[in-house]
Amino acid sequence: MVLEQFKEDFMDYQMYKCTMCGYIYREEKGESRMDIAPGTLFDDLPENFKCPTCNQPKMAFELRKL
Ligand SMILES: [Zn+2]
Repeated sequence: MVLEQFKEDFMDYQMYKCTMCGYIYREEKGESRMDIAPGTLFDDLPENFKCPTCNQPKMAFELRKL
């Protein structure tokens, strides 16, 4: 069933925190302000991805354990 599969996938998603402003990128949600589709893994973000609130590059983000 599709919903069950979605739940399983949901569990594997990670969150990454911007160390400058505390913004959290959630892989399961993506980032509509940056045209990032829901389910986009942090590693798959374009190299020019920037924090939508403080414009820090990807390297300013750190993995945040759930
Ligand atoms: Zn930020």
